[in-house]
Amino acid sequence: DALASQVAAGEVVERPAALVRELVENSLDAGARHIEVHAQRGGIAMIRIVDDGSGMDREDAMLCLERHATSKIRTKEDLGAIHTFGFRGEALPSIASVSRFRLATREKTALVGTEIEVNGGKMVAVRDHGGAPGTVVEARSLFFNVPARRKFLRTENTEFAHVEQQLRLHAIANPQVAFTLTHNGDLVLHLPATRDMLERIRGLVGDELASRLLKVEETTLHGVTISGYIGGPGMSRSNRQMQTTYLNGRPIESASISYGLREGYHTALMKGQHPVTFLFIQMDAQAFDVNVHPAKKEVRFHDGNSVREAIARCVSRTLEKAAK
Ligand code: ADP
Ligand code: MG
Repeated sequence: DALASQVAAGEVVERPAALVRELVENSLDAGARHIEVHAQRGGIAMIRIVDDGSGMDREDAMLCLERHATSKIRTKEDLGAIHTFGFRGEALPSIASVSRFRLATREKTALVGTEIEVNGGKMVAVRDHGGAPGTVVEARSLFFNVPARRKFLRTENTEFAHVEQQLRLHAIANPQVAFTLTHNGDLVLHLPATRDMLERIRGLVGDELASRLLKVEETTLHGVTISGYIGGPGMSRSNRQMQTTYLNGRPIESASISYGLREGYHTALMKGQHPVTFLFIQMDAQAFDVNVHPAKKEVRFHDGNSVREAIARCVSRTLEKAAK
């Protein structure tokens, strides 16, 4: 029902950046090669994601707006080994229940697509859609019907900063996908598709910083495979904005990783400073839980010590090599 939907929605979509997280994940899952994110007024007035992914037929488009209508869980075993990002089938119904929502989608070979309008969880229109193949999801007036939630939104600039950070996280993990971000009609990010991870990082952080990054040679320890780029001790920051770690392609935060980084940089890192990292971790999906929080950010490793040790070892080796 509508109320349960709005309550659940607050946990999945707490702010515009969370919409971006969920909707871009869906676009990636749908095999998109180009993803555009358009925001107005920090994303509070509007977030629109345009992708060139698989699109949906009418039945699926209707179905995906029902709670737990994920196409991504087929068996119970799948729950333990999730390879796509989405797995709960809650994002779209949640977003649609707290916004003025529009989904327009068309499969590549379909002659005509489908457009659905939902107003605060109520489906108000379904019509043919003649746009390009792929999917457009638009959410306007976020939390217009949940004032208690709306109160927690920060300023438009702050909300947009979170939107941009969220898109950066996706962009780094997916260099083969082109991304565009606009705010109030102004182009903020334009990242062409590339095969080269460092090229994508350069597009985000600039030539100067990118040229000083140290390459982390791929290493496996205790079943934890690590690769990527890290900054030298002199490049560390007072905030964590440039500290990104990915687990099987998903941006995550984890205490074990933070401890590992701290240990790896040990005396090189001044107090209160955070190293610049773009680290990619690959692990068996059975070795961790991702469903700790609806926002899916924190990961719980079954063997956190192994992860900490692997990170620490990798970082200290990379720093030692650079110092030679
Ligand atoms: P989940 O991602 O957990 O399955 P969502 O609510 O995010 O749940 O999406 C529901 C379903 O809608 C997805 O499983 C997928 O089949 C479909 N879907 C959502 N977004 C897109 C998209 N951009 N392109 C194609 N299909 C999509
Ligand atoms: Mg999803």
